[in-house]
Amino acid sequence: MKITKVDLGHEIFANCYVLTDEASGESAIVDPAYFNADIKQTFFDAGAKNIKYILLTHGHFDHIFGVPGLKEASGAKVVIHEKDAGHLLDSSKSLADGNFPEKQIPVTADITVRDGDKLYLGDEEISVMNTPGHTMGSVCYILENDRVIISGDTLFCMTAGRTDFFDGDENMMIDSLKRLIALEGDYRVLPGHNRETTLERERTRNWYIRRMVK
Ligand SMILES: [Zn+2]
Ligand SMILES: [Zn+2]
Repeated sequence: MKITKVDLGHEIFANCYVLTDEASGESAIVDPAYFNADIKQTFFDAGAKNIKYILLTHGHFDHIFGVPGLKEASGAKVVIHEKDAGHLLDSSKSLADGNFPEKQIPVTADITVRDGDKLYLGDEEISVMNTPGHTMGSVCYILENDRVIISGDTLFCMTAGRTDFFDGDENMMIDSLKRLIALEGDYRVLPGHNRETTLERERTRNWYIRRMVK
């Protein structure tokens, strides 16, 4: 799978990734926090072809604001965990209220996923791990063939996502991180904010895991 991080041009926006299975030409855009004509071109420049899915790691505004525009422009199916699907329709749940100057355009999820579900770009498998804690419906998307975890706002380089929002839960975050670090072997970790890391590095050095999980 070709995996490219794209710059949406604003520091408030979460990391956005373009996934493309080059054999089939099927793509997914992960967390399109914003969308306009320039960003559309950026996705194609990053290798996007036939955009099949918009994969959301959770329902916060800084990950979803571009979803309505991208869905309309591409016809891609919006994928989110069932417990965060309501955030796409409610600007108080998405935390857009008071945090983002533009009005949230409600958009309906096309596919609601649960832990263990699998999605495909061509023959390439993407598995869904529900990692509640930051929100109840936070997920990691695991690309086993590429040994990549797209970790949203669950696992960050050296830390973890906040658990003090209305549907956050610190004990669930600790359990989710336990599940992640129990995966066998090493993975590239592509988080929702800041720089990429590896699972092995986070097992040993992440201050949140060292303090809270072990
Ligand atoms: Zn975020
Ligand atoms: Zn978040």
